[in-house]
Amino acid sequence: MLRSYRSRRLKPINADRTLLSAYIGVHWRLILLFAVAAQFIHAEPADTIWSARYVITMDAQRRVIENGAVAIRGERIVAVGAKADIDRRFQPKQRLDRPDAILAPGLINTHAHAPMSLFRGIADDMRLQDWLEKFIFPAEAKNVSPDFVRWGTRLACLEMLLAGATTYTDMYYFEDIVAEATKEAGMRGVLGETIIGFPVPDNKTPAGALKFTERYIARFRDDPLIIPAVAPHALYTNSDETLKASRALANRYGMPLVIHLSETKKENDDTLAKRKMTPAAVLDSLGVFAGRTIAAHCVWLTDNDIDILRSRNVGVAHCPSSNMKLASGVAPVPKMLAAGLHVGLGTDGPAGSNNDSDMFIEMNLAAKLHKVFSGDPRILPATTTLEMATIGGARALGMEKEIGSLEPSKRADMIAVRIDRPHAVPLYDVYSQMVYALKGADVRDVMVNGRTVVEDAHSLLLDEKQILAKAAEYRARISASLR
Ligand SMILES: [Zn+2]
Repeated sequence: MLRSYRSRRLKPINADRTLLSAYIGVHWRLILLFAVAAQFIHAEPADTIWSARYVITMDAQRRVIENGAVAIRGERIVAVGAKADIDRRFQPKQRLDRPDAILAPGLINTHAHAPMSLFRGIADDMRLQDWLEKFIFPAEAKNVSPDFVRWGTRLACLEMLLAGATTYTDMYYFEDIVAEATKEAGMRGVLGETIIGFPVPDNKTPAGALKFTERYIARFRDDPLIIPAVAPHALYTNSDETLKASRALANRYGMPLVIHLSETKKENDDTLAKRKMTPAAVLDSLGVFAGRTIAAHCVWLTDNDIDILRSRNVGVAHCPSSNMKLASGVAPVPKMLAAGLHVGLGTDGPAGSNNDSDMFIEMNLAAKLHKVFSGDPRILPATTTLEMATIGGARALGMEKEIGSLEPSKRADMIAVRIDRPHAVPLYDVYSQMVYALKGADVRDVMVNGRTVVEDAHSLLLDEKQILAKAAEYRARISASLR
């Protein structure tokens, strides 16, 4: 009776408790579910997050973020900030965490001749004219073909990407093949078809080269990675008519013009003797600078030339390795920067003028060359030098709205550089480390246009073994052709 009473009494109580606990349990679960869901609802989608010990942004404030991260959606950066904030804000599909690395904008090589990588070391330690006439022109006449250009570009892109360059400016023959191989490597390129006043492997006349260039521009003008360019080789290798026609062609399609300018003293002396003007003044008088222009070297510019280049907003590609190796001279880079010119760094080469395509070496040499030349160790500090290799290079190419810094809405071109090797520790200043201590071989991962193209120091898109084998094959073929 009692039992039944109790049981009767207890039963409802038990039931109440069960109900209550079930009620609370359901609520807890709901709260948890909402909390988890809220994270997903509020977390913005991202394709990729890269994080690292330091993020060098090269933005207007020159922010360096310790324990930072970059979120990427599609081809562009959506956020840069502290890793904890980025992780809270975004739900990525994939991520790469490098606690022992620096994330930096991809390096921008503003002057190169990529396919010439297959002539690397063919002849060194001689005057430019001898090197060109005795070795390069004969070697080019006998060997340069679409196949040579394809494999040379693949080799150069592989080398450049593994050393942290994500964009490069080129000037060579069969530039459509250079563009194909550059796309295949996943790299960005401002690629100029060479126009020159004598027969070359792809075109026998400048008029033919101009027609070729127009077809090439039409094919690549809307490409997300390639900016086709018109590249009259130099003032001294082209007629005034060809130079004018080159500018007109570039402007017709809104494409840049790439040219060598005042590289040697001889070039300046000859032009002064012949025309009573400097090469820069002649090009300006012909209207060659009336549109986006990238001028390589600019070693022998006068103060007046600097004014001309500034007023025409000409971008300059400073190539310290090349200028030193060929004893061309020292470009007035501190003066150009003080005047407000946009100066980037270029490797030139990678044949006799510089036998590698490593932008870390160019940064290191640029900073030191101008110090020893001026006798002032304060000239070209590390920050300015890294600027030249990133946002300054982007400005020189007229691409600063798209690349050159890690900022929301810019294209996702970036590199992870390891800082866990003996030459990288201890680290007091990231700019100093990038310019004076780190090397191209420290680059571990590379992203171009939102796509990872190098992971753990290996290209994901290029067949490294095959490229090295082809280089050996070409070495044998080229040597035989010169006998
Ligand atoms: Zn060059």
